[in-house]
Amino acid sequence: MPTSSSSVSFDYIIVGAGSAGCVLANRLTASGRHRVLLLEAGGPDRNIWIHVPLGYGKLFSNPKVNWLYSTEPEPELNNRRVIQPRGKVLGGSSSINGLLYIRGQHEDYDHWRQLGNAGWAFADVLPYFRRAEDQERGADELHGVGGHLKVSDVCEPHPLCEAFIAAAQSCGFPRNDDFNGPTQEGAGYFQLTTRNGRRWSTAVGYLKEARRRPNLAVVSNALATRILFSGRRAIGVEYRADGMTHTAYADGEVILASGAFNSPQLLQLSGIGPEKVLRDLGIAVLADMPGVGADLQDHLQIRIMYRCTEPITMNDVINDWRHRYVAGLRYLVSRKGLLTIGAGYAGAFLRTRPDLQTPDVQFHFLIFSADAAGATLHPFSGFMASVCQLRPDSRGFVRIASTDPGVPPAIQPRYLTARNDRDTVVAGLKLLRRVMNQPVMQKYIAEEYAPGAKCSSDEDLLAFARQTGTTVYHPTSTCRMGSDPNAVVDERLRVRGFERLRVIDASIMPTVVSGNTNAAAVMIGEKGSDMVLEDAQAAKAAAA
Ligand SMILES: Cc1cc2nc3c(=O)[nH]c(=O)nc-3n(C[C@H](O)[C@H](O)[C@H](O)COP(=O)(O)OP(=O)(O)OC[C@H]3O[C@@H](n4cnc5c(N)ncnc54)[C@H](O)[C@@H]3O)c2cc1C
Repeated sequence: MPTSSSSVSFDYIIVGAGSAGCVLANRLTASGRHRVLLLEAGGPDRNIWIHVPLGYGKLFSNPKVNWLYSTEPEPELNNRRVIQPRGKVLGGSSSINGLLYIRGQHEDYDHWRQLGNAGWAFADVLPYFRRAEDQERGADELHGVGGHLKVSDVCEPHPLCEAFIAAAQSCGFPRNDDFNGPTQEGAGYFQLTTRNGRRWSTAVGYLKEARRRPNLAVVSNALATRILFSGRRAIGVEYRADGMTHTAYADGEVILASGAFNSPQLLQLSGIGPEKVLRDLGIAVLADMPGVGADLQDHLQIRIMYRCTEPITMNDVINDWRHRYVAGLRYLVSRKGLLTIGAGYAGAFLRTRPDLQTPDVQFHFLIFSADAAGATLHPFSGFMASVCQLRPDSRGFVRIASTDPGVPPAIQPRYLTARNDRDTVVAGLKLLRRVMNQPVMQKYIAEEYAPGAKCSSDEDLLAFARQTGTTVYHPTSTCRMGSDPNAVVDERLRVRGFERLRVIDASIMPTVVSGNTNAAAVMIGEKGSDMVLEDAQAAKAAAA
């Protein structure tokens, strides 16, 4: 491939314009003092379905905006490969995700702190959640207004969601109108990262503003292929764009924000990772770090589907051109209606056992049904609800399979390999059925379509989970923060043993949070950017 050497050097190079990368690009350029290069493997976010919330269903199989990864055969899922969509576009996964705004439990972050990560307890990260947020309901102790990430309520209640929430209440669980409030437990409506019926990705919220600044250069369709070093100091990045290999240099830092699959991939391609994996591929080992790509965690979801007694589901709208037309027109005129909903309408965070301190399962309640994500909706009135275990014990890996940066890494979350995960999934499915069996919900259920009444024992339910379980798209922890020998970054997100190299994205989470992961990735971007700026300030003061 022809090469070209960029004569321009920057203070910071950010690899990846995703949830965290766009936050970094904004914060690091805000003062006007730093020159920043943002590299993004995908293109601009022009696809109309990115911006219409319900359009996320159309992005699952679009290679123009999605890496379209899948796992290796999963040993505990009957050796099935599981899809692993990831955003490959400005905004990254925040441009193609399900839009649910959930931070996780306060205890998740206190646990991170307990593991030795100073500065990451809930009290420490809350100011960053608040700073990021523009909460439609207004500010309070836990919520912020005026931030770059707009958070809104779903536009209107739905009778099926009301029934689901009431059913959870009849099982003794509270109604919860704010899953990001003082406690997460209960059933209620999700909030979304939208405003006026439009998706609020980090490309929209953070990058659009930053791109007006002369000190930010954004290169899209640019695949970073290698980090360049002088000894143990990162000095630049090699990347492919326009059929050429380019190099760009950073006087300050190289920051990886490429997400839970690609940040460890890029480190491994650059000689930082498990020695054997690198040697087997003939890569010169800069540092034997077994933790790079290890500890992959993800949320597995198992869906139960129902035929509905009334034609009030989204299947009824989408499958009839007249209803579709009305819904489309309503969206165009008022930005309201079915096109504004995300990957879940209502949901619940519940404890499968009363002795647990906090919820261990999340239910996503959807007013449509389909056999797979992004697939055609069923031809009958249908809806579904999924069970997702919030704190899996199973650990997987991401490993490069080739020295070619264009070849996807091998991904294996090893779902359900831990006994506790299998037990929790079965307990969660039983709990979901208990909720669905309440009279207030039963009046809408003509039949449990899948797995159906024949699936009744614990063994049956586990077999169903093995056969149909799929990701809820929350891979994390492959460049885990910590101080133990397998940790990849320290509590200031610096790659251990290296200078001027950080990872700032969902891959640094010590453990996956008990909820959806976009809000946490944005918070990590906010906090990480402060760390970069503070350390630069401290270095300047020390040098003066
Ligand atoms: C289909 C789907 C649905 C989801 N639903 C929800 C939801 O409803 N709510 C929620 O909270 N979370 C959801 N998530 C998860 C959430 O969006 C992610 O956890 C979050 O966006 C991760 O942020 P990140 O910054 O770590 O990575 P990303 O946002 O994935 O960003 C990484 C960026 O780096 C780029 N990149 C990678 N490698 C390179 C390279 N070598 N060179 C240049 N650029 C590179 C990528 O193209 C991408 O733009 C969903 C995710 C998906 C995929």
